[in-house]
Amino acid sequence: MSADLMVKAENVHKHFGRLEVLKGIDLEVAPGEVMCVIGPSGSGKSTFLRCINHLEKLTAGKLWVDGELVGYRQKGDKLYELRDDEVARKRREIGMVFQRFNLFPHMCVIDNIIEAPTQVKGVPKGQARERARELLDQVGLADKERAYPRELSGGQQQRVAIARALAMDPKLMLFDEPTSALDPELVGDVLEVMRNLATAGMTMIVVTHEMGFAREVGDSLVFMDGGVIVEHGAPKDVIANPQHERTQSFLSKVL
Ligand code: ADP
Ligand code: MG
Repeated sequence: MSADLMVKAENVHKHFGRLEVLKGIDLEVAPGEVMCVIGPSGSGKSTFLRCINHLEKLTAGKLWVDGELVGYRQKGDKLYELRDDEVARKRREIGMVFQRFNLFPHMCVIDNIIEAPTQVKGVPKGQARERARELLDQVGLADKERAYPRELSGGQQQRVAIARALAMDPKLMLFDEPTSALDPELVGDVLEVMRNLATAGMTMIVVTHEMGFAREVGDSLVFMDGGVIVEHGAPKDVIANPQHERTQSFLSKVL
């Protein structure tokens, strides 16, 4: 495949037993692109992100991240399944932020952020702390490095979770409804951090129903329903002029 795509999905299928959750997803994400994904609950959005992040195995189809086939190593014209350690190494290159912040509750903010770089990548502690401080500054929490997660608001915890993902220098960031568990007044700060990240050129796939964010920050917008991509285009076009009845009906509920 062309190496100038960050993500390419080709006819991706995923079954859980007899339940077919992804029914042939075709998608391309360019480097630096911010793709927003919307769709009803159960449409397969999280499953698709999890496939990109090596957390689910595809049932059929192919998926590439940064030119490399997910789950397999190619040797000549043969494909070999990756070993667990190889999968783990690839997963480190992708940052993921979930609806629930899942910080380590017994570690202060800065220790949360340096955990993976020091333990997994072997970055020296001093250097990891320096980088963590830059990241905390970037997410507006420079004064919270010694705080524990329970002392922070949900929005602050989510910004720490973003900083923690960034500490691994990911080439791609996946966000799965990052603001939907937050009180409304805390959503803006998290979206602001994501907007800055987008402006800085990060490639991002963002499952969100924040349509203002999708319109202003997204380069593309995908509407998924029932395991397929129903509509895909420039956010302002999809929002202002949806082509499918299912998209229209969904948008009328979230706008
Ligand atoms: P969305 O994120 O769009 O709400 P999901 O990808 O979470 O949708 O789920 C799509 C469908 O797949 C749902 O019907 C869900 O119940 C099912 N599903 C997700 N994960 C699993 C799993 N590990 N085992 C069985 N079914 C699953
Ligand atoms: Mg989901």
